[in-house]
Amino acid sequence: MPAASLEQIVSLAKRRGFVFPSSSVYGGLGSTWDYGPLGVELKNNVKRAWWKSVVHDRDDMEGLDAAILMNRLVWRYSGHEATFSDPMTDCRKCHARPRADHVFEAAKGRIPTGVDEINAAIAARELACPSCGEKDLTTARAFNLMFKTTVGPVDQGDDSGLAYLRPETAQGMFVNFGNVMDTMRRKLPFGMAQIGKAFRNEITPGNFTFRTREFEQMEIEYFVRPGEDEAAHKMWIEERTNWYYKLGLSPERLRQRHQDGTELAHYAKGCVDLEYRFPMGWSELEGIANRTDFDLKAHSRSEKNPDAVGSLTYYDEATKQHIVPYVIEPSAGADRATLAFLCDAYNDDLVSEPDADTTGKLKELVTSFAKSVQKRDGLDSAIKDRLVAESEAILAELPRSLPQLMGLASDADAGKIEVMRKGKGVVSKVAEEHTRTVLKLHPRLAPITAAVFPLKRNEPRLVEMARKLRKDLQSTGLRAVYDDTGAIGKLYRRQDEIGTPFCLTVDFQSLEDGTVTLRDRDTMQQIRLSADAAAQTLGQKTSSL
Ligand code: ATP
Repeated sequence: MPAASLEQIVSLAKRRGFVFPSSSVYGGLGSTWDYGPLGVELKNNVKRAWWKSVVHDRDDMEGLDAAILMNRLVWRYSGHEATFSDPMTDCRKCHARPRADHVFEAAKGRIPTGVDEINAAIAARELACPSCGEKDLTTARAFNLMFKTTVGPVDQGDDSGLAYLRPETAQGMFVNFGNVMDTMRRKLPFGMAQIGKAFRNEITPGNFTFRTREFEQMEIEYFVRPGEDEAAHKMWIEERTNWYYKLGLSPERLRQRHQDGTELAHYAKGCVDLEYRFPMGWSELEGIANRTDFDLKAHSRSEKNPDAVGSLTYYDEATKQHIVPYVIEPSAGADRATLAFLCDAYNDDLVSEPDADTTGKLKELVTSFAKSVQKRDGLDSAIKDRLVAESEAILAELPRSLPQLMGLASDADAGKIEVMRKGKGVVSKVAEEHTRTVLKLHPRLAPITAAVFPLKRNEPRLVEMARKLRKDLQSTGLRAVYDDTGAIGKLYRRQDEIGTPFCLTVDFQSLEDGTVTLRDRDTMQQIRLSADAAAQTLGQKTSSL
């Protein structure tokens, strides 16, 4: 079972060094996060796997690393200065500032056609504040999401030094279309890939690293002849979906959603969002759009753009004509992908069953929790139904459903009920004894591939052999660590919790016959193999995946 609540992931991430709140010694900065020692390895592995799949494994792609700061005109002609904004409204009663399009969608069950329609609904008092429920909202205003900065030592007080922190990496690729095509002697179809930071002054960041103001994108711009765009669009939708599958994301939690006409950007011919079922619901992981020739035209010299120095076109030898290629853009977020892999990999496994007495106490707790939920006033009926349904499913399966009960105990909505708030300690205690948290990350993504332990840390020959084995494994390119800070059982548990697929233990038999124990994270099975063959075996196990 994957993470039932984002709180489980946030707590594991903080506890085990994946992600920390940023600037925490000064109380933090809202919705900004620092990747810790394990988080940076995980995210780097996600980015590496993406780069390998979309650049190295293909012969029609090139990489790029464009600057974050760009000439302001890029953002003028891309349309971002005028239109990269979200509509916001203020609640006159409680002073909350929600996104007006989200308020509209919640009320009407559909996306608004534009700000005018939102404002008509606000004027007719049809839209309620999501915080206090009052229908007293101000007219929606556009709020530009780009962060401004000044280039140069002196701010002249005018716009002469104005620059933006890029809100997407894509534009760096469009304006380098000619450079890459010419220097790499590329013919259509070909594409570019780029990984880099992007910044958006999001009005409502949140859900941990899902929506932040500083994030990393993994974007592709794939250029084709007009007419070949739809086939290329299909090809990329397949490719990108399969990439997530190959790295272990559960098919039942990944879906393709075709954007309808009202959602599509005015220049786009089609867009498919790859969505993942995060604990907070289905949400976008990646958008794959057919952007037609909009971007290359926008940055080419024309009546509309007298500032561009030339034309971003392709000379077609066959027709002896310059054409403007169409572009397919698969645009993913490195942080969102990392979060999805974490949520999907999270498992609380039952390793032994609690006795009948303890199981009885847990059943009593869940029964009285479900009763309190039903009686509780002021709780949304959909939330009530969900909590009761989960409680019933758990009751039917206890003690085997102890992991699910742990999920329920850390659910934010369940935490609103006193019975569960009080009972959470008991659940955690039982769970500590009878379950293990294991991140079933794909071995290519796991921050650490192999951990090596000596059976006894005060036995120099075991320590020496284990340290040498770690070094040998590391020299083959696998990320390997040595640990002797606890008993073997405890060390296994720690590695399970951070997703290490393989643990190797050096014991007294190792000193005699050169073999070590290899323990598999998912099956917990142990085999003996020669220490000399360990690197090769693990290399095969990970590279064949
Ligand atoms: P959303 O609708 O969630 O705001 P978007 O459609 O604006 O996303 P794009 O502009 O298509 O997103 O950006 C491409 C990808 O970049 C998204 O699919 C997502 O993975 C990532 N991304 C966008 N905004 C953020 C953000 N604020 N924080 C983290 N990742 C983001």
